[in-house]
Amino acid sequence: MNSRNRKTDYPGSTGYLRDAGRGGKPSRRWVFPLVLIILAVIILVAVISAASGRNSGTAQDPSGENLSGQDGTRSDPPGEDTADPGGENVPEYRSLSVSSSEIYTGDLILVNSEYEYHFPENQEIVNIYEYKTDDYKLASITLRLDRRILELFNGMLADFASTKGRRDVIINSGYRDASEQQEIYESRKQAYGQQYADAYVQKPGFSEHHTGFALDMAVYTDSKVSMTFDQDEDFDWFMYASHTHGFILRYASHKSGITGISAEPWHFRYVGVPHAYYMYANDLCLEEYIDLLRNYSFESEHLVFRDDEETLWEVYYIPSSGSDRTELHVPASREYSVSGNNVDGFIVTARKTTT
Ligand SMILES: [Zn+2]
Repeated sequence: MNSRNRKTDYPGSTGYLRDAGRGGKPSRRWVFPLVLIILAVIILVAVISAASGRNSGTAQDPSGENLSGQDGTRSDPPGEDTADPGGENVPEYRSLSVSSSEIYTGDLILVNSEYEYHFPENQEIVNIYEYKTDDYKLASITLRLDRRILELFNGMLADFASTKGRRDVIINSGYRDASEQQEIYESRKQAYGQQYADAYVQKPGFSEHHTGFALDMAVYTDSKVSMTFDQDEDFDWFMYASHTHGFILRYASHKSGITGISAEPWHFRYVGVPHAYYMYANDLCLEEYIDLLRNYSFESEHLVFRDDEETLWEVYYIPSSGSDRTELHVPASREYSVSGNNVDGFIVTARKTTT
């Protein structure tokens, strides 16, 4: 009996087959062994499936990112471990208190004849000549730009030079302070009249050039021929590829009714990669885009889109509280950035996933 019990505890199939075989005689001895065989098979199947279940559990856990889950108990459902921790237990967003005056800073500030630029106390405006590469030319060694934007611009021009083999882009204008803008406005007004000046030159305080995020470019060939980008097809590249570096053609001819500025195939503005992509892909000028984003508040549906590099982005809008500080909701554990819109609120941009 003892030996038989031990056999039953252990995966018994071989034992009972041996038992059955050992008899090798008449069929009346078959009923009892048959029941035992069936039982044995059931037990075997149960043992195997339990073992394989444990294996798949242990195989999945370490491959997941949740190292913190390693000291978890075995009662955790093995398959769901990797999906759960980011989900329900950890809040996806946290609050962040910012000064409401920060609506006047960031990549997405809208500066136009309606919304004045608020010159910040400290902005790193640098001389382009000090940081320039050989991929482009400068109309003047006094031209300036925001330092961060200049680095991104240098990257874009390196891309253009390697793609098209052209290094004859010239920067004609970059950062301008209010008095420089005043001078430009007055000189255009004197030379071409008020109507021309109003069509092309913003009044001091209302020019995008104040931001240090905008610049005017043209072509100046080695044989000293000047032309605008729309006069040489190589420079179409800037129309369809500058968004991959976060820049937009700011004043398109078919948007002049909205921007209030006539076509300027030379004026480019940095807004950041996902936004430049979305505006380009959906044919929106900055005024339209800023309006559109108000439809995607934190509480409602967020704007989610995949850019042409297959990165998935999430964008939403949070209105300024109107008092000194505004409580934002930002992703708790994902990379994000916040920009003011220079009008009435903040735009939060985050990567949703990276593929
Ligand atoms: Zn310009």
